[in-house]
Amino acid sequence: MKLVTFTHGGSTRAGLDVGGGVADLGPGGYPDVLSFLRAGDAAIRYAREVLASPGDPLPHSEVKIEAPIPNPPKFICIGLNYLDHAKESGMEVPTTPTVFTKYSNAVIGPGDAIEIPPVSNEVDYEAEFAFVIGKKGRNIPQDQWEEYVFGYTIVHDVSARDYQLATSQWTIGKTFDTFGPMGPSIVNKDEIGDPHDLRISLDLNGRTLQDSSTKQLIFRIPELVEYLSTVMTLLPGDIVSTGTPPGVGFARKPPIFMKPGDEVVIRVEGVGELRNPCVAGA
Ligand code: ZN
Repeated sequence: MKLVTFTHGGSTRAGLDVGGGVADLGPGGYPDVLSFLRAGDAAIRYAREVLASPGDPLPHSEVKIEAPIPNPPKFICIGLNYLDHAKESGMEVPTTPTVFTKYSNAVIGPGDAIEIPPVSNEVDYEAEFAFVIGKKGRNIPQDQWEEYVFGYTIVHDVSARDYQLATSQWTIGKTFDTFGPMGPSIVNKDEIGDPHDLRISLDLNGRTLQDSSTKQLIFRIPELVEYLSTVMTLLPGDIVSTGTPPGVGFARKPPIFMKPGDEVVIRVEGVGELRNPCVAGA
């Protein structure tokens, strides 16, 4: 089950990517992905019926795929969560998760342009594997994580290093408009065998600059669900981006930063491919 947000005929709605096209979930009473996730098991049952007999799906050529959750209740990011990336960044390997946020102004979908802001000379790429909450919960024990996670998506944690590292707080460098490409879909967890054994890679203009595995995660999904839900009630549609593997631009010699005209592709095994161009921002 691949949950998408799509625009067709001037309206933006929730759908299922059924392979040959997109099946609208509106007739089931789910106008958007958040309403689908909030409905829990009833929505999943309905989606399985649609998958079994999708009728006349809208051809991919007639729809624009948007970010699966254009306005997430929370957009949480984990820093320094791959062992090798922590080392290349010259930072201590953490014993507590580093947590920062993006806001919904950052969210864009597949194919949408990342705007390189003129105020930053150090806009970097970060391929990330993200999980999406499917059930409200607080104080969730690690061993119950699967009950609360609906599925997985790809996030590009675009990062203006000069803003990020100007102080100890990273958020300001992470949440420029368009700095949160997401998608193309949310893949239900049942379709992914082991989320901690997925290849993750990033190509910039056809050159592979990150290529790792979610095996390298320091804090894994069960620990993150427990840790975050100790502090805050997790809600359907909350997104947790789990951090980036080695190979980011600012750690290279010489460094590589993104510029207008570039194209970035992130791939996560079983989850899909997220492709975005870069343009000059205002
Ligand atoms: Zn990141």
